[in-house]
Amino acid sequence: MICFSSIYLKSMEFTTAEPFLHKGLLQSFELTKYILKTNVYPREPSPLKELREVTAKHPGNFMSTTPDSGQLMGMLLKLINAKKTIEIGVYTGYSLLLTALSIPHDAMGIELIRNIKLPTDSSMIIAIDPNKETYEIGLPIIQKAGVEHKINFIESQALPVLDKLLQNQKDNEGSFDFAFVDADKENYLNYHERLLKLVKVGGLIVFDNTLWGGTVAQPEEAVSEDRKESRRSIIEFNNSVSIDQRIEIALTPSGDGLTICRRIR
Ligand code: SAM
Ligand code: CA
Repeated sequence: MICFSSIYLKSMEFTTAEPFLHKGLLQSFELTKYILKTNVYPREPSPLKELREVTAKHPGNFMSTTPDSGQLMGMLLKLINAKKTIEIGVYTGYSLLLTALSIPHDAMGIELIRNIKLPTDSSMIIAIDPNKETYEIGLPIIQKAGVEHKINFIESQALPVLDKLLQNQKDNEGSFDFAFVDADKENYLNYHERLLKLVKVGGLIVFDNTLWGGTVAQPEEAVSEDRKESRRSIIEFNNSVSIDQRIEIALTPSGDGLTICRRIR
């Protein structure tokens, strides 16, 4: 007869042997390609496909949000019925365009009907990046898709913009449904603190690159010099959010790691 303790022991052996510690999605190009080919590309909206193809010709193309992460974000935006969002780190606008396509087309109209005071610019997505040139690469496609009116692009570092939004507490605190952070890793914790005030309880803050090419699980000596500083910031960020009682989290291995934070208080 197999008693409980032997089952327990067996499961301990199982754990000790770490059977699940294989190379993982991030290290398998074949599996990533499989996901893209079977589930992501066939459903990718045509403006996003066009933007992805235009971006592929740009030297910074590796910075673009991966289409599988984009698909997940589009789903999250729709699940929470997001209307007001913040985007930190635009580049050519893949994640920005998918956000604009995922929030309701009549979002602005609905808000006005309900007489809810919008920020003075009245836009639905506040998109921040100090580099307007790369935003302008994707802009014609955003315009052609008919969603530019939902975007308020601010050419700036993100922190001063967030601080300015927080100065107008009455209108902005707890007023956003969703935020996506995909910019300088050194400021992730600074963004987190501010966004936790701007996003409403029940809203989501999503951070990209939280596995930093898998380097978070490697010893520092094994990591190339140019990746070390951001790796340290990401590890500090991951440690901090993992014990943050104001949020629920899920770190998914989509793309380069996507941490989904849901504000609960
Ligand atoms: N989400 C984008 C997409 O889907 O294509 C990719 C963003 S790319 C990884 C990072 C962007 O962050 C760059 O365009 C860069 O100019 C911007 N960035 C860097 N430092 C920033 C800062 N302090 N505030 C806002 N954006 C910043
Ligand atoms: Ca990214």
